[in-house]
Amino acid sequence: MKTYEYIVVGGGPAGIFSAIYAGNLGIKTAILEKKNKIGKKILISGSGQCNITHTGEVKEFLTKYGNHGKFLRTAIYKYSPKDLQKFFKDNGLELLPREDGKIFPKTKRSVDVVELLYTLCKKFNVDIIEECEVLTIKHKNNFTLNTTLGNFVSKNILLSTGGVTYPQTGSDGQGYSLAKNLGHKIIKPKPCLTPVYIKDFPFTNLAGISFKNISISIFDETKKNNESKGDILFTHKNLSGPGILDNSRYIKKGNKISFNFIDTTLEQFKENFIKYTNDHGKNLTKTFLNTYNLPERFIKHILFVAEISECLKISSLNKKIRDNLGKLLIDYQYEITKLDGIDVGMATNGGINLKEIDSKTMESKLIKGLYFGGEIMDIDGDTGGYNIQAAISTGILAARNIKIVNDRK
Ligand SMILES: Cc1cc2nc3c(=O)[nH]c(=O)nc-3n(C[C@H](O)[C@H](O)[C@H](O)COP(=O)(O)OP(=O)(O)OC[C@H]3O[C@@H](n4cnc5c(N)ncnc54)[C@H](O)[C@@H]3O)c2cc1C
Repeated sequence: MKTYEYIVVGGGPAGIFSAIYAGNLGIKTAILEKKNKIGKKILISGSGQCNITHTGEVKEFLTKYGNHGKFLRTAIYKYSPKDLQKFFKDNGLELLPREDGKIFPKTKRSVDVVELLYTLCKKFNVDIIEECEVLTIKHKNNFTLNTTLGNFVSKNILLSTGGVTYPQTGSDGQGYSLAKNLGHKIIKPKPCLTPVYIKDFPFTNLAGISFKNISISIFDETKKNNESKGDILFTHKNLSGPGILDNSRYIKKGNKISFNFIDTTLEQFKENFIKYTNDHGKNLTKTFLNTYNLPERFIKHILFVAEISECLKISSLNKKIRDNLGKLLIDYQYEITKLDGIDVGMATNGGINLKEIDSKTMESKLIKGLYFGGEIMDIDGDTGGYNIQAAISTGILAARNIKIVNDRK
C-alpha cells in the first residue's frame, strides 16, 4: 500500500499539469496511468504537432465550449492561454501562433511537449506510475485506489481519465464507472468533433472543395437548433472541416443541416437573378453563378442537381427552376444519417454532470477531496486548441485547491 498526499488518475494534459503544479508546491504526488506512457493523446493531437491553445482573450475562449463555457470561467481566468504560453516559454519550448490563431510548439512536434512534461514531473518529484490501471476507488476518510499494481491511498484525488474517443490512447470511459461508483451522475457520453454523414451523399465528386466562413444551420423536427458560421470541407463520403466538427456537438441522427453557400437571402438572390437576366439575358446561367465566386466544380454540380444544362442561357430559366436553384445555394436541408464514432471523434460530449462539481475549485460537491479535470467532465471545446487548454486549466485549478494546499496556507 503506497500513500500520497495527491493522486492523479489518468496522465493526460489535465492530470499531468495538475500533478506538476502540486509537485511544485512540495505536495507528495503520483500519477497513476494505465497505459505504458503518459500523454498518448497529446502525441496524436493536432496531427502529431499538438495544437496546445489558441490566440484570443479569455472572454472569447469561453464562447468555444457550447453552453458550458460559463463553468470554465474561473479555471481559464486563473490559468489563461497567456499563462500557458508563458509556461512553455519559461521551460524552453517556444510556441508559435499560426495565421488562423492555433498555437503549436515551434518545433511542430507533440513529442517535445510530452518529453518536457516528463522532465518537469521528475524535477518536481511527481511519481509517474505507468501500466497502473485504477480498478475501483473507495472513500472513507481517505481514498483507497485498487489498481493492477496494488492499493494506493490518498486524502485528495483527481479523476482525469478523459472521454471515450480514441480508446487506444487509454481514454475509454473507464473513469465514468469510477465516478459513478462514488455517487456521481454521468451525462451520456457521445463522440463529437466528428465529420457528419448525410443521406445519399451528393458531394462525392466535390471531395477536397472547401468553403470559408459560411452560414451553417441545424434543424430538428420542429425548429432550428443552432446557427453558426464556419469553414466546411467536402470529403468523398462526408462533411468535415472546422465548421462541421464544431457543430457536431449539437447534431443527432435524423436532424437536418443546411448551408448558405452564397451569403445572401432567397429574396436577394431572386432580385439579383432578375436584374442579371434583364441586363445579360444571353449569358449562361453558369456565368451568373460565377458572380458569387463559387468553385467551378461546385457550379457544375449545382447546375446538374438543379437539372439546368450548362449551355442554357439564363433568360430561358423559369421561375420554378430559378427558385429551386436559389434553394440549393441558400437553404436546402440535408438529412443527417450519422456522426462518426469513437475512433474518429476528437472529443467527447457528455461526461460527469457539471452540476455536481464546484466550478471555482473543480472539487466534487458530493465528496470532499475528490476533484475532476479535463475531458472526463461534460465539457467539449471547438477545434483549435480549446480542449487541451480546458484540460490544463481545470487540472491546475484542482491542484490549487486540494486540501493540503489550504492546510498549509
Ligand atoms: C486525434 C485527436 C487530435 C486532437 N487534437 C487536439 C488538438 O490539437 N488540440 C486540442 O486542444 N485538443 C485536441 N484533441 C483533444 C484533446 O487531446 C483532449 O481533449 C485532451 O487530451 C483531454 O485531456 P485529458 O487530460 O482530460 O484526458 P486524456 O488526454 O484523454 O487522458 C486521460 C488519461 O487517463 C488514462 N486513464 C483512463 N482510465 C484510467 C484508469 N482507470 N486508470 C489509470 N489511467 C486511466 C488514459 O490512459 C489517458 O492517458 C485531440 C483529440 C484527438 C483524439
